[in-house]
Formats: sequence, C-alpha cells, structure tokens
Amino acid sequence: MMLRGAGKNKFKITRKSVKYMCFILSSLVIVLFIVSIANKMLKLVRIDSETVSRTSYEALVHEYSLISKFAFDSAQAELKQFSNNPELRKIRTKDEAFEWLKKNETMKAVYFDRIGYAFVNGQCVSLDGEYDASGDKYFSDIISGIKVETAVGPFETRLGDYIVVVARPIYDDYGNVKGVISGTVKLSTLRELMEKLKIKNDGNYFLLGDDGNFICHFQDELIGKQYIPENPDLGDYSSQFFFRVRNGVYSTHGAKGQKIKVFLEAIEGTEWTCGVVVDEDVIMKSYNQLRCIIIHEVSVAALVVFILIILSTVFLNNANLWETNYDSLTKLWTRAKFEKEAKVLLDKGKNDRFAVVEIDCPGFKFINQRFGSQTADDLLKQTGYEIFSYCSSRNALCGRGYADHFYIISPLENVGEFMNSFDVFVERLNESLTVKDSPVHLKYGITFYLPGTNFYGTRRSIQNLIGESSFAKSQIKNNLMQTYSIYSLQMQKKIAREGLIERQMEKALAGGEFFVVYQPKIALETDRIAGAEALVRWNSSNKELGFLAPNEFIPVFERNGFITRLDFEVYEMVFKFLRRQIDEGNPVVPISVNVSRAHRNPEMFVAEFVRRFNKYDLSPELVEIEILERSSDDDSFNLITVTNRLHEYGFSVAMDDFGSGQSSLNMLSDVPIDVIKFDQNFLRSEKAKKGQFKMINTLIELGKQLNKITLFEGVETEEQRDMLKNLKCDKVQGYFYSKPLPEKEFIEYIKNHI
Ligand code: C2E
Ligand code: MG
Ligand code: MG
Repeated sequence: MMLRGAGKNKFKITRKSVKYMCFILSSLVIVLFIVSIANKMLKLVRIDSETVSRTSYEALVHEYSLISKFAFDSAQAELKQFSNNPELRKIRTKDEAFEWLKKNETMKAVYFDRIGYAFVNGQCVSLDGEYDASGDKYFSDIISGIKVETAVGPFETRLGDYIVVVARPIYDDYGNVKGVISGTVKLSTLRELMEKLKIKNDGNYFLLGDDGNFICHFQDELIGKQYIPENPDLGDYSSQFFFRVRNGVYSTHGAKGQKIKVFLEAIEGTEWTCGVVVDEDVIMKSYNQLRCIIIHEVSVAALVVFILIILSTVFLNNANLWETNYDSLTKLWTRAKFEKEAKVLLDKGKNDRFAVVEIDCPGFKFINQRFGSQTADDLLKQTGYEIFSYCSSRNALCGRGYADHFYIISPLENVGEFMNSFDVFVERLNESLTVKDSPVHLKYGITFYLPGTNFYGTRRSIQNLIGESSFAKSQIKNNLMQTYSIYSLQMQKKIAREGLIERQMEKALAGGEFFVVYQPKIALETDRIAGAEALVRWNSSNKELGFLAPNEFIPVFERNGFITRLDFEVYEMVFKFLRRQIDEGNPVVPISVNVSRAHRNPEMFVAEFVRRFNKYDLSPELVEIEILERSSDDDSFNLITVTNRLHEYGFSVAMDDFGSGQSSLNMLSDVPIDVIKFDQNFLRSEKAKKGQFKMINTLIELGKQLNKITLFEGVETEEQRDMLKNLKCDKVQGYFYSKPLPEKEFIEYIKNHI
C-alpha cells in the first residue's frame, strides 16, 4: 500500500473541529477554575501576611520603646549611683569639681560620654572644659525643682555628635539643691542598640523627644528637627502629629513619596515617643514574594493542564484517526480512507488509466457460523495480505470495507496488461486461500477508468467506480462458475433499467400491473397434475419496461424491500383464484407461493400470511410455501422458525432451489420442511448432460431417507423426465410438461391433467 499525501484541508466547521473547540473550551474552564482558586488563596494569604507583618512591626516598636526606656532608666540609675558619692556634696569650687570628676572618671558608666557638674549659678565643669549651663533646659528643670531627674536632647556637640543629656540634682546636708550632675549619652550609642533589633534590616527607628523634635532618627538630617510633610494635602502626617498622638499605626507617605506605615508607642514614664517607619512594599514583600511564587506555580500548573488536555485530545483523535483510517484486523485502509486516497489518485492523474476492483468472499457468513469467527478472521487476514502484496507490486491502493469486502484501485497501461496480472493474482488467491483445507474462491467485480475511450472514459467519482465494480460482481453472485465480472455498457443499461423499475413499482402495484401465472407440478408416478407454482409477472404500462419476468424485477425489489409488499399481493391473488375456482366448481390443486428472504420477522410474516389466508375460507392443504434455501446476508428470517409456525397452521413448506447456495446437507435434517425442490442446475450439469446421474440419484435417496417429498424443477426433456422417474423422484416441474400458464389456460390444464 502506498501512502499518498492528501490535499490541504481548508478550515471547515466539522465535527472534528467542534470536538477540538469543546476540548479547548473545557481546558480553559479548568484553567480558569485553577486561577480563581489561586486568586482566593492569594487574598487569604494577603490578609494573613498583612496581619503577620503588622503584628511583627508592632512588636518591634514595642521592643524599641522598651529598649529606649531601659536605656533612659539605666542612664538615670547609673547617674544616681554615680552622684551618691558623699564627696560630691562637699564640692565648693570649680577645681574641687574638676578633681572629683577626674578621680571618679573610671566609675562612670561606659555609655556616658561625658560627666559634668554644674553649680547653682550655671557654671558647669567637665573633664573637657567649662561652660555655662544656665540657659540649658535640663539645668533649669532641675534647679527650679520641676524635675528630680531629666533627660533632654538631642544636642549637637562642638565635635558634631548628637547627645542626650541626663541630669539629676545634688543636695547639701539640708536637702537644698547645691548643684546638678549631668551625663551625656551619644545618640550613636543608642542607635547601635536599636540597629541590632531590626527585623531583616526592615523598619527604621526614630525617637521623638518631649518637644516634638526627633531625638533620634534614621535620617541624620532630621535629628533635633521636626518632619513636615511636603504635601500635607495628601493627608500625610507631621512629626508634631506623632508627638501628639504617641500611639498607633498610621499610613502616610515618606519623604520620597512612597507609601509607608508608621508604628508608634509612647515610652512609659517619659514624654518620649518611639516610632518605626516601614515601607508598605516591605510589609507586602513576603506577600509579594509568595504571590510571585503562587502565580508562577499556578501558571505552570495551568499550562501543564492545558498542554495535557490538548495532547490527550490530539492523542485521542489520533487513536480515532488510526481507527477510522486503518482496519484493525487486516491493517489495511478502511473503506473511507481508501476512498479518500483513491480520490486523490484520480484527481492527480486525470489522464491516467485505472481499474477498480471490489472483492468479496461468497458464503463468508456461512464460514463464520460453521467454523467460528477465528477461522473467518484468519481468512480475512490472509486475503488482506495477498491483496496488499498484489497492490504493492503494481503501485496500487487497497482497503477493506464491511465484513469480507475489499477494494483495489490500480493504475494500468492497458486493459490486457491489467487482466494478465489480475489473472495471476486470482490464481494465486485461489491456490492460497483455504478454510479447513477446502479452497475458498473469491468473487471479483471490475470496472475501468480509461480516459479517451468511449464507454469507460466518462469521468466518475471513486464512489461511482466502486458502485460499478460492485454491480458487476453482483451479476455473478449466484453463478458458481464465474470468478469475476467486468462492468459493461450492458450493465450500465441494466442499472438504468433498474432505476426505471424502482420508479415504476409503486404505480404498478396500485394499478394492478402485477399478475400471477401458474406452472403445473406433475406426480411422476401417475403423470398427473399434483399441484402448481404461482409465479409473478409484471405487464408494465411503461412502454420502455413492457413485459417483465421476475428475474428482472425481483432482485431489485429484494434490495429495496418492496418484495415484501408484492409477496402479500401475490398471495391474495392466489387465494382469490382458489376461492373462485372452488366457488365455480372447478377442480383445484395445491398451489405453492414463493417467499422472499427479504422478510425480516418470521412471526410477523406468518401472522400476516394467516390473516390474509383466513379471509378466503380455504383449506391449508391447498397452499404450500416455497422458501429459498440460499442463506441471505442476515439470518433474521430463520427457516426453522418460519417452517414450524407455518406447520402449526397446517401449511406445507418446500425448500426452493436446494443446492444453489452455500447450505450444507445438514440443513435438510435441521429444517423440518416437507418438500425439497432441487435446483435446476443439477439437470444442466455437464455430468447430467453426459447421462451420469449419480449426484441426482444421491440427492433423491437422501431426500427419501429424510422423509421429504422430492421435486425437480427445470425438467425440459423427456430424457430428464424418464431419468427422474426411474430414480423415483416424486414430482417434477418444467417446460417439458408446461411453461407457467396464465389463469385461463391453467384452469384448462388442470381439467385435462387431473
Ligand atoms: P423459482 O421459485 O425457483 O421458480 C422457478 C423458476 O424456474 C420460474 O422462473 C420458472 O419459470 C422457471 N422454470 C420452470 N421450469 C423451467 C424449465 O424447464 N426451464 C427453465 N429454463 N426455467 C424453468 P420465473 O417465473 O422466471 O421465476 C424466477 C424466480 O423468481 C423464481 O424462481 C422465484 O424465486 C422468483 N419469484 C417468482 N415469483 C415470485 C413471487 O411471487 N415472490 C417471490 N418472492 N419470488 C418470486
Ligand atoms: Mg419457487
Ligand atoms: Mg425454484
């Protein structure tokens, strides 16, 4: 099999594309679902993350405030400790003060940068020199008795450091304030402490003093100053505002315009306020990181789901494609794929010549039933293999259709060349195909496509060509001798005529164009009439059709089902005829009628038959039913069931044309028929012609052993009649005695031969 590329597909709304759309839409829905769940999760995470951040920064500011307070308290405590020295109370002069400070230098706490002693007049002595503290706030607060201990600042020293001054009074023995001892703490010392507490370097610390100025600030330029927002219209807060409120969390903008959160906490026991400034971005940083991760993960998951769904769709589709393109049993193309590829071939080579062949195996159903599906499958596989080999050698295409049907389209040089190769192919198949060691002979229908020639040159589609080869094959369906048949002009005319038959049939039935002729059956023992067979005829009002024999129209009616209606019309004609003969006092003989195997339901057939029969008040012995032995494509019209049901009503049943089909001799004992009508071909066989009647003798013997009435039809000569009489055949029917007769002549025939 050559695989050839199909033409480019234009986009069409096909079932396949709708299927794709559905898959894509459903995958989108799934992806959206995943995204919406992720979104909900993110919201929860955001709330959670905000709460966690807020709590941790509140904890941080609390910690800062504790440390600030601790630093303040410990500075006070240290100063108190330091000032408790009784010598300090005795100091009267600046030199004494200097001496004392120098002597106790080592006792001061490490974080005190400088210790000073101020006299009530404001003269302050330190180891670095003297200065006037009378104007300083810490000094006036202590001297005036407003405070017993104080911390103020920040102050910028001459060296450029910022300091906070912690101070307390020194009393004389009478309890009067005689001086002020002070210590300076460098802000850098305090800040170092705070820095160590920072959470991952986030959160900037500030300390607001009791005058609303920053004692400490992460931006050095703000120390000792206030912060006034650049754009108060935005509702941003100043350091004065924080100084007033002293507690809480506030959203505002920073100096660079970024969104910030300010966490405040008043330092217990002081008028100082501790604060932490955090960028909102930092608060949301962990959330944002998490969000990035989730978005990334969800996107990857959604993409994977999407790709998986698309892949599974494509995979399923490919699996379907395999199923729709390849036959699982023979691995050949399916009929649909074959037609598609053959069309491409025909379209491509408009002037090329082709032969199209339809092949089937007569009696395949029988092989299936008799030997089982495995054997039948093996036969199909072997057939497929042989066809494939043949096609490969000719650059031809092939495929398998329903059950045992195979198709070939082969390029050819000329008909002679093709037929030579085809004959070799058929011969090889005849030799190689066997079932249980018996040879199997296939049937072939062939048609040609020969551009430039008269009859075969007309352009036809692959479907038309298959139809033609199929029709050619159907013409030899029941001909055991012929292996293949070639579609011809005659067949084309036949197809046209069959079309006309189909168009005329309804009108013919309604117009009474069908009528019955009767062919006598003769009992050989007495040579008298023993019955007759009713055979339908059609005298068409259509001039082109004219007078038609059943062989012309019955196969058409069997294909389209019309035969089931015609059969019942024929029965009514026969019943009416019998009724009239009896009523007119004429002699009657049993009449047999034919039943098509196109009737599907045995029960319904018998019921309708009996219903019509009952209208005429006739004895069932006067009617016999002939059922064809040939097994039809499906077995719904079961011979055993019909026969049994007809017997119940007293009708006798004949098996028609026995020996023409595929049935085995076993069938004779299985089906409880009364009469065996042997096929005419037995009389026409070469052996019979040469006077060798062994086969006929065996058949009659067999019939008798099975207690059946034996009948031969198609008896045309005296010799045949004599031979059958000698072999003790019961009855005969044939031209030797009489052709089928019209009613009137038949009545006369009975009268003369009864
Ligand atoms: P069949 O039932 O086997 O009928 C016997 C056929 O053999 C008849 O052909 C008959 O005319 C023909 N025949 C009888 N004796 C001779 C003879 O000596 N030589 C030759 N060459 N032929 C002989 P007919 O009438 O053309 O019918 C053909 C077939 O059509 C019948 O074969 C039967 O199967 C079918 N048929 C006829 N009428 C009906 C009907 O009403 N319903 C159904 N379903 N089928 C019918
Ligand atoms: Mg018959
Ligand atoms: Mg017959």
